[in-house]
Amino acid sequence: MSQHVHVRLSHGLAITEEGDLVEKTGCQCGATWTDTYRVEDGQPEP
Ligand SMILES: [Zn+2]
Repeated sequence: MSQHVHVRLSHGLAITEEGDLVEKTGCQCGATWTDTYRVEDGQPEP
């Protein structure tokens, strides 16, 4: 199995009730990610 480099395609942005920015991304292989950002400081959640 060759190494696959995921390509993150944005599936959209949303704002939580807490005011955080949530970005959903996904690769064509089916892998998905959900990134949450604090709007206050702009740092991704650990
Ligand atoms: Zn992939």
